[in-house]
Amino acid sequence: MKRDAKTVLVTGGAGFLGSHLIDRLLGAGHEVLCLDNLFTGSKRNIAHLHGHPRLEFMRHDVTMPLYVEVDEIYNLACPASPVHYQHDPVQTTKTSVHGAINMLGLAKRLGAKILQASTSEVYGDPAVHPQPESYWGNVNPIGPRSCYDEGKRCAETLFFDYNRQHKLRTKVVRIFNTYGPRMHPNDGRVVSNFIVQALRGEDITLYGDGSQTRSFCYVDDLITAMMRTMEDTPDSFTGPVNIGNPGEFTIRELAEMVVELVGSRSQLVFQPLPQDDPKQRRPDISLAKSALNWEPKVALREGLTETIAYFRSVLTGEGPRVVLPASTLGSTAQTAAAADAPVRSGAEAAPIATAALAAVRQAARHAKPQAAPKAANTAASKTSTPAR
Ligand code: NAD
Ligand code: UDP
Repeated sequence: MKRDAKTVLVTGGAGFLGSHLIDRLLGAGHEVLCLDNLFTGSKRNIAHLHGHPRLEFMRHDVTMPLYVEVDEIYNLACPASPVHYQHDPVQTTKTSVHGAINMLGLAKRLGAKILQASTSEVYGDPAVHPQPESYWGNVNPIGPRSCYDEGKRCAETLFFDYNRQHKLRTKVVRIFNTYGPRMHPNDGRVVSNFIVQALRGEDITLYGDGSQTRSFCYVDDLITAMMRTMEDTPDSFTGPVNIGNPGEFTIRELAEMVVELVGSRSQLVFQPLPQDDPKQRRPDISLAKSALNWEPKVALREGLTETIAYFRSVLTGEGPRVVLPASTLGSTAQTAAAADAPVRSGAEAAPIATAALAAVRQAARHAKPQAAPKAANTAASKTSTPAR
């Protein structure tokens, strides 16, 4: 082990981002304790590390107290896709709030440094654009996204109170939409949905008219920034710091790029916009640039190419074994069925119930239905987009 090697706890380590973080921590010579309750994550994401002498896996729920000995904690445990976090919203809030209390308590007992994976969702449907860290946000406290948004906001409050009250070394990163290999094909997020649909030649489902915007960060860039925040900033640097790619795209532009890169004949179809779906999102990353000496390197087109290759290997059975939905991810009902497909089995089974999830989705998607244009596959909307 390297002289500066540490023992690092990663909660949510079997998830999409957690598994990439663990790859990098092990690569840097650290001992890693991966903690996960496998709600949305899978041991498959860390299967390539099986038998690694510096990795230990622990099945545990962060809403329960934890007693282990570590030097640093990355707190990532929380379902991140709207479909998954709305499935059991009370548990989502508990995961964010009780999970933060338990991990902060552990850090306090150990004198450990702790980083919180917060989110651009703390800005809600932002009235300020792009979003700087100083913006307090525009969040509905009682809507279907609130369990996630308010849970993460409360977790941030706890991190800053532990810092002020207990002098704990805390860091908060606000992550904007991140994509890449090991995203769950059934999690309902836009990048995975569109790629799987395009690879299968199925309709691409745009919610609303597809003019809402997002800024997509490739996973490797995100992990670099997250580790720099933990390792390369002074204790006085608490954040919050935005991490994301400021390139901003309409959802329709994303759909068209995916169709083009896949070489698919898929058509764009329009479905109702879910309630409280943010209309625009783009990080102001001035702070990350100055404090972390970081900016993203991977352009959307390049990152999508990598991600498409990953999903292609999953679909052809050459990549990781992930059981995909039998039918289209498109319509609400079909999407509900798709996400309930047996993505894992036996002890790894995710506790996602068909009826409950379908009901949650119906409520979320149809609470504020908006007229959607007819299916089309024409040029991108002319929303202005910065250099990306
Ligand atoms: P993910 O769903 O792939 O990973 C979350 C992991 O947490 C899963 O492995 C899941 O099983 C685990 N988990 C959930 N509840 C738990 C609990 N109570 N106890 C223990 N483990 C639990 O999602 P992700 O995209 O990897 O997101 C990781 C973190 O980053 C989350 O906190 C999320 O809010 C945050 N984030 C992600 C994005 C993104 O675009 N991916 C954006 C903003 C914030
Ligand atoms: N979206 C879409 N079609 C899909 C999935 C998502 O048009 O099949 C839209 C969704 O309404 C939102 C954007 O894509 O405007 C990003 O959704 P995602 O769930 O990936 O993340 P969010 O940023 O909303 O948390």
